[in-house]
Amino acid sequence: MTKYIFTLGGVVSSLGKGIASAALGSLLHARGYTIRMRKLDPYLNVDPGTMSPYQHGEVFVTEDGAETDLDLGHYERFANVNCRKTDSISGGRIYFNVLQKERRGDYLGATVQAIPHVSNEIKSFLTSDLTGEDFVLYEVGGTVGDIEGTLFLEAIRQFANEVGRENVCFVFLTLLPYIDTAGELKTKPTQHAIKTLLEAGIQADILLCRSKIALGADERRKLALFCNVAADDVVMALDVDNIYKIPLAYHEQKLDVQVLKHFGMLDGAAAPDLKKWRAIVDTMASYDNHIEIAVVGKYCALPDAYKSIGEAFTAAGIANGRKVKVAWVDAEKLEKLSDAEVQKALKPYHGILVPGGFGNRGIAGKIKAAQYAREHKVPYFGICLGMQMAVIEACRNLCGIADADSAELNERCTPVISKMKVWEKDGKKEIRPDNGDLGGTMRLGAYPCAIADKGSLAYRIYGQGLIRERHRHRYEMDIAFAGRLADKGVVVSGLSPDGLLPEIIEIPAHPFFIGVQFHPEFTSRPASPNPIFKAFVKACIDRAG
Ligand code: GLN
Repeated sequence: MTKYIFTLGGVVSSLGKGIASAALGSLLHARGYTIRMRKLDPYLNVDPGTMSPYQHGEVFVTEDGAETDLDLGHYERFANVNCRKTDSISGGRIYFNVLQKERRGDYLGATVQAIPHVSNEIKSFLTSDLTGEDFVLYEVGGTVGDIEGTLFLEAIRQFANEVGRENVCFVFLTLLPYIDTAGELKTKPTQHAIKTLLEAGIQADILLCRSKIALGADERRKLALFCNVAADDVVMALDVDNIYKIPLAYHEQKLDVQVLKHFGMLDGAAAPDLKKWRAIVDTMASYDNHIEIAVVGKYCALPDAYKSIGEAFTAAGIANGRKVKVAWVDAEKLEKLSDAEVQKALKPYHGILVPGGFGNRGIAGKIKAAQYAREHKVPYFGICLGMQMAVIEACRNLCGIADADSAELNERCTPVISKMKVWEKDGKKEIRPDNGDLGGTMRLGAYPCAIADKGSLAYRIYGQGLIRERHRHRYEMDIAFAGRLADKGVVVSGLSPDGLLPEIIEIPAHPFFIGVQFHPEFTSRPASPNPIFKAFVKACIDRAG
């Protein structure tokens, strides 16, 4: 029988429910259980695809092409699972489904109401598309008490009764603020948050307590007494300086043990295999040197906007035994600088990455960064928009197409990056509509890419001629320009199998210059970095010496 674990949060937001749920998932996975990781977001956007990264952080893309919350990235990296489209849902999607059903007449003349129609829609998501996993872990976005979350809590309460309370575990992530003047951790906000949760009919089973200092016996006793849990179910989650220490820290504090005990599964449970996490933490503790890489992007004030890129660098650093520091360089600031000033600004870095992005802001700065890297033989890695910028730069400055640009950014240009209308995926035709909704015209999810030339950098990196990587974009390099670019030393080394869409470009005469139309950061995991990130970091280390 599948067991269901809900991670809820109280007191304040930003406590790291995503990582908490992912770390618990990783511990259960390490004990040999099959798991599924899911996210419920009460907000009213139908999906996060059209939200600003400043609001929401990065949009994470799954293998099957869902645009999701960045927490699904944590799930994949920690619990080593591939999330699916059906693993993420928002309040907006729930209401959208309900209203569509109402319009279709599915409710047969009934008055459509929050309960049961909306709550039923939420409940049907909870069990949809499951395949007999041992554990399904749901993270509930927001903080207990949020108006938007009310119906979600109601649906979860009903669900727990229906599947049997013994099959559900509520983990409550909370904060114990430390008051300097009193010199103690405060439990009162947690007591209030638990009361709010009780008003929704949900009794927390385990308290996971974020705190700056260790939890004393007194606080533990108080929390147990006022929050209706056993003292052993008050689990300390002390702040750590490295998120990859969290699975080990939770295991030390017996979070996985208490969860298994709750389900009556502790007897006979396999011990977790935590070798991987120990090796990661040990490697990171043993660094004696670092390299520094400039990420020239648009949302640099909020590194969460590039979460998976940061984590992919961490993983590539672990694989290469060298710490990777990332400098978030604002592309807009580079725009106004002269070539000499750009050179001065980017000189301190061992490599340059231009990430994905949309719209015009900072574009000229990204093109300057690509030009600097190409001309000064600095390792360059362009992701999606970062590849498109490298193509535009090369078309303008090497091929002499002065008005080369992307159709996304400039209506009156020679569009070397444009919207391809028809292509093939897995042998089937895909069509990009001319004027679909903004959310509906992207090439999303994993697509195959053929790498024909065994001597290419791409082939050497992947060690194979057919790869799959995840996409999220509308525009593509126009293959018609491949010949002129190749004459100038910029070659297309990866193509969609139908030969229509350039997927990888590189400069063979450069120490390391690669641009990819896909997003390799999404498939990087701490113990198995994406091969391009690993090779790029190696090239930067070689340059640093
Ligand atoms: N804006 C570009 C496009 O839609 C690039 C997207 C991206 O970098 N993810 O093609």
